[in-house]
Amino acid sequence: MSDTDPLARLRAAAAARAEAGLRRELRPRGADDGLLDLASNDYLGLSRDPRLVAGAAAAARAYGAGSTGSRLVTGTTELHAELDRRLAALTGSAAGLVFSSGYLANLGAVAGLGGPDVLVVSDQVNHASIVDACRLSRSRVVVAPHGDAAAVAAALAARDEEHALVVTDAVFSVDGDVAPLAALHRAARAHGALLVVDEAHALGVVGDGGRGAAHAAGLAGEPDVVLTLTLSKSLASQGGAVLGAPEVVAHLVDTGRAFIFDTGLNPAAVGAALAALDVLAAEPGLPGRARANARRVRDLARAAGLATAEPAAAVVPVYLGEPRAAVEAQALCRDRGLRVGCFRPPSVPKGRACLRITARATLDEADFTVLAGALDAVARSTGRSLHT
Ligand code: PMP
Repeated sequence: MSDTDPLARLRAAAAARAEAGLRRELRPRGADDGLLDLASNDYLGLSRDPRLVAGAAAAARAYGAGSTGSRLVTGTTELHAELDRRLAALTGSAAGLVFSSGYLANLGAVAGLGGPDVLVVSDQVNHASIVDACRLSRSRVVVAPHGDAAAVAAALAARDEEHALVVTDAVFSVDGDVAPLAALHRAARAHGALLVVDEAHALGVVGDGGRGAAHAAGLAGEPDVVLTLTLSKSLASQGGAVLGAPEVVAHLVDTGRAFIFDTGLNPAAVGAALAALDVLAAEPGLPGRARANARRVRDLARAAGLATAEPAAAVVPVYLGEPRAAVEAQALCRDRGLRVGCFRPPSVPKGRACLRITARATLDEADFTVLAGALDAVARSTGRSLHT
């Protein structure tokens, strides 16, 4: 039957996903749908901040609606160069290079620094963009158990390859825990490897002034540490960057395919990110507020009797186990005016479906009251289904 219909296998696969509770749906949102948003990655609450919107508008007026070319041709405006420098300064890195997304920054860093003579050791729970970067790198890849610096050291010691990279999320995107960066760096240094740290969920939230987890771990400016980040979370814009030693940046400018063959970041996004850096400098209390709010979210989940985890930044998971339970819990929250994330395989391991709640720095008491009511409703409903 399917010999003549090339889409039949896709329909069959979709039916199997529906059966397993794994269909996904796009839900276009209006400019203001009245929901309390605890699903976005807008950790500092800056996405609608007039200062960022003005920064985006001014950059678009000055430089146009698009960047007009790859960064090596016409796509590097003076604003891009300023953002390269300021991201490096914020994180204490020697040099920086803006990409058009965080995904591409990871592809650029890991594929650009990898190769057949480079072993890559990657944490089991790393973000999909790192997993894809490992695949593109043409390196042998060892997947290390989550957060296990001793296993990383052992893989590095046992390698035949001349060179090596260790790559990890700083703060893991769903579980919200932090990688053992100091121990990973000791292992990398002892074995002549570079350590690549994805600061996506740490920048703007972790450490003094939101300088990120590597800075907080005392690794700022270390020549064998490379940072990747996204501008789309705390900085409430869009785009990504790789930061590190001048040799690293020069290598990616000359050879990084995800850098060379991609159009430079939109000027409006650059303008918004620069404005976000101004806000971060002017309001140094914002990162701490996001972290305190995350602890409050964790406390509310615990008080409701739900399984959760210690948040290192602004991400708080509420574990529900099966995909269907997570989808139902998300719908219950929505009924109560609350938007939360719902993560199912393959985004999380089997049996670890969860709600992902993000604690914005700008949450107030009324928001926590709504959240507490919704978490109680989720706990009652999962308790009922456990007993039926
Ligand atoms: N790394 C991590 C850990 C992420 O969570 C994400 C985005 N979800 C990315 C990289 C990709 O960043 P971007 O969305 O800017 O492509």
